[in-house]
Amino acid sequence: MCEFCGNLGLTHLSRPSGGGSLDRRRLILGGAAAAAAAPFVAVSTTGAMAQSDPAGAMGPSKVRAFAASSAESRFAPIEIDRRAVGASDIRIDILYAGICHSDIHTVKGDWGKPNYPTVPGHEIIGRVVAIGADVTKFKVGDFAGVGCMVASCGECENCLADREQNCLKGTTFTYDSPDKISGGVTYGGYSDAIVVSEKFGIRIPPGVDLAAFTPLLCAGITTYSPMQHWQLRRGQNVGVVGLGGLGHMAVKLAVSRGAEITVFTTSPGKIDDAKRLGAKNAVLLSDAGAIGSLFGSLDLVISTAPEAYQMMPVINALKLDGTFVNVGALGQLESLNGMMMAFGRKSFAGSMIGGIAETQEVIDYCAARNIKADIELITPDQIDRAWDRVMAKDVRYRFVIDMSAGRKA
Ligand SMILES: [Zn+2]
Ligand SMILES: [Zn+2]
Repeated sequence: MCEFCGNLGLTHLSRPSGGGSLDRRRLILGGAAAAAAAPFVAVSTTGAMAQSDPAGAMGPSKVRAFAASSAESRFAPIEIDRRAVGASDIRIDILYAGICHSDIHTVKGDWGKPNYPTVPGHEIIGRVVAIGADVTKFKVGDFAGVGCMVASCGECENCLADREQNCLKGTTFTYDSPDKISGGVTYGGYSDAIVVSEKFGIRIPPGVDLAAFTPLLCAGITTYSPMQHWQLRRGQNVGVVGLGGLGHMAVKLAVSRGAEITVFTTSPGKIDDAKRLGAKNAVLLSDAGAIGSLFGSLDLVISTAPEAYQMMPVINALKLDGTFVNVGALGQLESLNGMMMAFGRKSFAGSMIGGIAETQEVIDYCAARNIKADIELITPDQIDRAWDRVMAKDVRYRFVIDMSAGRKA
């Protein structure tokens, strides 16, 4: 049994500049700055050692990433900086990164001018290769996930209520967000490694299909959270607008809750797929007659379409007191009809991802029920083609990049 970490069979390594054997007391007595820069290191003697560069795992590092340098540019490999592993940090060698439509919106400048070069990716799963002295949630060799956030103030009313995505002082998102720890901007999962506070790491249970679990870190939590908040129950009728990465997870999660699902899609080719995924009904958004026949029938709608569209016909399909939750289209929306909203006492709501605790909850929920995304696994050189296909709605239903492909061992 090790006197430092209490674990059996771990090898401890000092950081490269530390020299000699690790003296944890010396690091801690060196003050907070020293502890943050040179915390305790443990590298498993099995598995993780072979996949990482143990000598460089704790210090600041440069890692390979894939970046867009303008709204029009194709992806190209660059080197980015990752910070040293602080006392509460973990370093993850990234195995898989999902491609979310938000990546495209960000790089195209739909939500404001990006800080190019932009390294997207907020669906991340990898292996923990280094941990700081104070880390308790992970050990080296574990699988960990990172979703859409990497930091928040931790003190405001929303953070204290496990709503870090709504931090009143500004959530630090996983990419293209001001990095309050290292300066500059954050870089996401289209990269070989990431360093993150353990608080923002999600435990990934052993034995799950890692690649197909990766989309749960955004698409899963984004659709799970409104089902929790609006308490979707067995036998209720739920509408899902858009059958892409988010929409297909919404269908799977709603099926698992015993709801009756109606899918609204723009793609005739997805009607059959919606039913295969478990929807009772699927209609084209362009089919006014079919949508009209649903008037007053739905308890809840989760709209995952990534662009604005005429929402009112779908809102009219809600029952009295029904709620329409928009999680996909985050720009300017089409107008609502006040009379119809008032007549049916309907609510229009937005919802953005979910807190860290809730993200862990959806991961555990899906692991227990073997719920996972339908994915197409690609290599980093195929990102551009995959983006083109996402924009052409030609993906069933999430691209996941195998980040270990082409990486030096
Ligand atoms: Zn996303
Ligand atoms: Zn906060």
